[in-house]
Amino acid sequence: MAAAGSSSPCIFCQIARFSTSTTLLHTDDRVVAFPDVNPSAFRHYLVIPAMHIPTIKDLRRRKEDYQLVRHMLDVGISLLQKDAPESKLFRFGFHQPPFNSVNHLHLHCFALPFTPRWRDIKYISLGPLGGFIEAEKLLERIKPLTPLNL
Ligand SMILES: [Zn+2]
Ligand SMILES: [Zn+2]
Repeated sequence: MAAAGSSSPCIFCQIARFSTSTTLLHTDDRVVAFPDVNPSAFRHYLVIPAMHIPTIKDLRRRKEDYQLVRHMLDVGISLLQKDAPESKLFRFGFHQPPFNSVNHLHLHCFALPFTPRWRDIKYISLGPLGGFIEAEKLLERIKPLTPLNL
């Protein structure tokens, strides 16, 4: 999918504003969750911030960003635990530009296995090139250096 230009409305913003027919799995004042339209795993959900944040490159080492990503991950974990309790392995992470398909921050949540199995190629880290970054790794990267009152 091509990235949305500045004139065309962002599809994920539309979903977050409830203006599409997408089935929402979770909504609160900060995030929205829904199934990936082109699932790569037994369960494959996306969790997005309600606010338009383009990519992980727009996140900074600060409390608001850390808490937002932490919340996205918590929502993803609880959805998968509810919907795929039999799955042995969950994975959570983000595509790093230029490997992201939609320029609105989204956390991929997988209950494995990948279907078909070769699909995991889209979700591997490419080292210095970027690729896919696990949510916990991103959290380490943006964790504020001063102690948090979470
Ligand atoms: Zn957006
Ligand atoms: Zn993606």
